[in-house]
Amino acid sequence: MKILIIGGVAGGATAAARLRRLSEENEIIIFEKGEHVSFANCGLPYHIGGVIVERSKLLLHTPTSLRTRYNLDVRVFNEVLKINKEEKTVEVRNLITKETYTETYDKLLLSPGAEPFRPNIPGINLDKIMTLRNVADMDRIIAKTKDLKNIAVVGGGFIGLEVAENLVDKGLNVTVIELGNQVMAPVDYEFAKMVQHHAAEKNLNILVNIGVEAFEDKGNEIELKLNNGESIVSDAVIFAIGVKPENGLAKAAGLDIGVTGGIAVNEFMQTSDADIYAVGDAVEVSHFINNVKVLIPLAWPANRQGRIVADNITRGNKISYKGTLGTSIIKFFDLTVGATGLNEKLLKRYNIPYRTVTVTRANHASYYPGATNIVLKMNFAEDGTIYGVQALGQEGVDKRIDVIATAIKGGLTIYDLQEIEIAYAPPYNSAKDPVNILGYVAENMLNDDVRFINYNQLNDYISTENAVLIDVRTKTEYDNGAIPNAINMDLDTLRENLDFFDKNTKYVIYCQIGLRGYLAQRILRNNNINSVNLNGGYGLWKPVNS
Ligand SMILES: Cc1cc2nc3c(=O)[nH]c(=O)nc-3n(C[C@H](O)[C@H](O)[C@H](O)COP(=O)(O)OP(=O)(O)OC[C@H]3O[C@@H](n4cnc5c(N)ncnc54)[C@H](O)[C@@H]3O)c2cc1C
Repeated sequence: MKILIIGGVAGGATAAARLRRLSEENEIIIFEKGEHVSFANCGLPYHIGGVIVERSKLLLHTPTSLRTRYNLDVRVFNEVLKINKEEKTVEVRNLITKETYTETYDKLLLSPGAEPFRPNIPGINLDKIMTLRNVADMDRIIAKTKDLKNIAVVGGGFIGLEVAENLVDKGLNVTVIELGNQVMAPVDYEFAKMVQHHAAEKNLNILVNIGVEAFEDKGNEIELKLNNGESIVSDAVIFAIGVKPENGLAKAAGLDIGVTGGIAVNEFMQTSDADIYAVGDAVEVSHFINNVKVLIPLAWPANRQGRIVADNITRGNKISYKGTLGTSIIKFFDLTVGATGLNEKLLKRYNIPYRTVTVTRANHASYYPGATNIVLKMNFAEDGTIYGVQALGQEGVDKRIDVIATAIKGGLTIYDLQEIEIAYAPPYNSAKDPVNILGYVAENMLNDDVRFINYNQLNDYISTENAVLIDVRTKTEYDNGAIPNAINMDLDTLRENLDFFDKNTKYVIYCQIGLRGYLAQRILRNNNINSVNLNGGYGLWKPVNS
């Protein structure tokens, strides 16, 4: 069988290697229009910042190494221009010799990825505006930012933020400009606010709710005209507002394109033509939680799909892709931020009713040196189905996100989270993992053992219910900062002050992270005093309100 692959990086190279492992018989040709195959796109920002010192470490394979190890015919600088699906051929241009030639195929795999989105705004094609997709882009950014001082990064997604962090670490003044009301789309507003506060501590300037309307060349500088009437002058711009699937070849060949603009595929990653498969950033997938068609351009799906396609081409369509959860993670200076599944914004967009719990716990036994807090937020259904989780902290975020991503894919509920038996010794964990705690608190909510209101409901609740706000932290904590109009009553004095509470009044209780608030609420409600707990406590309220 003759198999052609368009795109030689994450999805394409993974499929090719697996295809060869499954059979020595097939002829496999990879066409890659760029200079490199199988490079580490995800590592590019870290070479810009000098964290990954050797550029060669990003080049996982070369055409020669792929031929030697896997007997693959790898053709870099070869761009596929057209697919003739009726004749089962592709037209290819050798970008060095400028020759065009035709190759036949039995099976074709499209893994052309996604390209940085560049809206049609004045000045967008100026030389000082750069995007980051491949090694050549990275080299250009390194060369062009070498002696510069001020960089504007347009777009506060993970590529924009990773590049921004790395440029700050190199000593540049960096401003991130984000059109939405928050950076980092996979997490909700309150998490993004914590990220934005951290950025400020690291001297990274982030502007939100601001769009760029035009760029103008100013000689050695570039002016960014903003939609608030102001402008910023910078030495160069990194443009990273998102990516769009490379669907041009598929569209021109008459393959079905999905509602999102991604190439439409079935569960076997087969396009509307049975001999053509497609994977990676270019395809539209079903969201694992609710089957809605989405674009989720991440490396795990591309790799997983590449392997599945290799198996399906070699052994017949037997393996289904089960959908994408969108599990993602980013290092942002001293923080790690991760997410999986549906966040609150998406649940609202899809009109899915949900409950939310936020807990803050140490990453390992707090008495063991070096413990740091992780804030975890979980969205779930009345029946205990887990919709998604977000986590922010310094250490151990990846572990919790991965455990819950596994739980979701395994069909586990909030009740099962309590049963996850974790490996415990003080340097690694507490005997109750934060994941267990999420399960406990979620069950308490469903049983009405704890009643929460969220930070964004607080003001409305107080005014409509005429509620009284009680801060159950210590006086020292209260004096260091509290929610306006809160009355301080240390949890440990609550029982002796029960006379203070009126059975016809509603109380909102808060502490620093929610635990003492919960204990206070139990005391009050066991004494028939109506109270709710502020989800996430002052620790969550503060970053959102400053
Ligand atoms: C800077 C950066 C950082 C990232 N960091 C992360 C991360 O930390 N975690 C994560 O999960 N994901 C990350 N990603 C995303 C991840 O790299 C992609 O999801 C993944 O590479 C997609 O694989 P793919 O095979 O679909 O496309 P790609 O890996 O982009 O490969 C597509 C290739 O196809 C080639 N091609 C396109 N059209 C043609 C044609 N007509 N002919 C020949 N060749 C063609 C392109 O040149 C390209 O090299 C990052 C991406 C970037 C750019």
